[in-house]
Amino acid sequence: MTSEFEIIIFYKYTFIADPVGFVRWQKKICEEIGIFGRILIAQEGINGTVEGTVEQIQDYERRMHAQDGSRGTFGNFSDVWFKSSPGTGKAFKKLKVKARSEIVSTGLLQHADIDPNKVTGSHIDAEELKSWIDQGVEFEIVDMRNDYEFAVGHFTGSHSSGMRNFRDLQKITSTLVAFKNKKVLTVCTYGVRCEKASGYLLQQGFKDVYQLHGGIGSYMKKYPGQDFHGSLYVFDERMTEQFTPNYTVVGVCVRCQTKSERFGNCAWSECHKQLIICEACGVQNIFCSTPCSFSKKSVPSIDS
Ligand SMILES: [Zn+2]
Ligand SMILES: [Zn+2]
Repeated sequence: MTSEFEIIIFYKYTFIADPVGFVRWQKKICEEIGIFGRILIAQEGINGTVEGTVEQIQDYERRMHAQDGSRGTFGNFSDVWFKSSPGTGKAFKKLKVKARSEIVSTGLLQHADIDPNKVTGSHIDAEELKSWIDQGVEFEIVDMRNDYEFAVGHFTGSHSSGMRNFRDLQKITSTLVAFKNKKVLTVCTYGVRCEKASGYLLQQGFKDVYQLHGGIGSYMKKYPGQDFHGSLYVFDERMTEQFTPNYTVVGVCVRCQTKSERFGNCAWSECHKQLIICEACGVQNIFCSTPCSFSKKSVPSIDS
């Protein structure tokens, strides 16, 4: 697959003393270069996805790597690893650069306590995971992505954390408590969530916690169509990413169970949960749950 457009995903947990100033600088350079995407900045670091032409992306990476922590720079970003995918030119409609309290929201009040620079799972890369699988090492893969991301693709035999949103992190341990004394590997899209999620498991008393460095995307790139089946959900207009044309579709429509990778939303406006809904079922209102279908009915219509 060749493309004149490129999408890069990147993050770094590092103390940023002036997130608002850094937001301003990021906005300025992205506008100067002319790239779109979404970048979140907090005192704990940066997390972003941007798209541009290959030349524009090179320019962005060069400017980021020049931020080396010396005087007048916002921190050391000279070692940020940019994970690259072919773009479409329409992954983002605009540029959003925002200052937040966290670069991935855990919803934990004491979120400052899960600082990946202090506590995080041991990193293993795609090659190490491949050898674990091939050698039959005993371990459990815990997928730290949201349930709808898991639904469209996942590692064979892996366990969904069951989160609807990463802010549900504090609710997961009861589900996964059986693995407390086992070797656990956390996985997510490109790694940013596992830096925190693996640290959180360690804090909750899990004994032997690893995280997949570079995430599922790096594994799929290296071993397309192996061990991880289906598509990788991504948070831009592409919705999903594939690394081989011969991949197996694992997503199923929540209503009719036919294989599908088409996303829709729960029809209850206050829920709007993402669901796999096939083209044929998409013509009618689909609800994620019985309570949602009743909520809909209990709301008086505007005319009454
Ligand atoms: Zn259907
Ligand atoms: Zn719902």
